[in-house]
Amino acid sequence: MKRVLVVEDEASIREMIALNLKMAGWEVLEAGSAERALELFHAAPPCDAALLDIMLPGMDGLSLCETIRRSNSDIGIIMVSAKGQEADKIRGLSIGADDYITKPFSVSELVARVEALVRRVRRGGNGDTRTPGTEPDQLVSGPFVLDEKSRVLYKAGNAIDLTQVEFQIMELFFRNPGTALVREKILEGVWGKGYFGDVKIVDVNIRRLRMKIEDEPSSPQHILTVWGYGYRWNA
Ligand code: CA
Repeated sequence: MKRVLVVEDEASIREMIALNLKMAGWEVLEAGSAERALELFHAAPPCDAALLDIMLPGMDGLSLCETIRRSNSDIGIIMVSAKGQEADKIRGLSIGADDYITKPFSVSELVARVEALVRRVRRGGNGDTRTPGTEPDQLVSGPFVLDEKSRVLYKAGNAIDLTQVEFQIMELFFRNPGTALVREKILEGVWGKGYFGDVKIVDVNIRRLRMKIEDEPSSPQHILTVWGYGYRWNA
């Protein structure tokens, strides 16, 4: 069963989210604080997704996100923020969240977002259903090798740790070398058609990727900006 960690200190909201996720077939672990969430996170078999409220008593959702991401690059993380916390959302994405949703949200939208996230994570994970032999296991581009089996990127032989979203973006680049990709297409390629997320997610993930793969992230040589449009891969 798919397992999700829901961290929210307001019991009524947490229970409503948990109830709806359970109805959608999820096993839900509930925590009212980041400290409790970490206990659950370490005790249980790994969760597929985590929903983290930013404003929590004690350790906040951003620090929790950072802590979880440090030990698990596969889990899908969605930050939940209140209106007016724009800076926090972006910070959440830059430290490892995959998506965010703003309160008040509709529960059906929230469930759809969690499902989209995990479908995507699964697609790349153990649930890989591609027919063997139809695709190469490694994509090579310049000094980079993307190993589809182990989901690891190598640069000149050195392994670079990527989140699932970052990995998917790299896949898209490697399959479209030298092509300007519009941000909406990157969003669609990574999150699937009909996904109603924000293109800012793409920008933040690109920023994170540049920190990991570029010699000088401030003057990128591989992930080039196409002004007013999107990004282009240059090996
Ligand atoms: Ca809260």
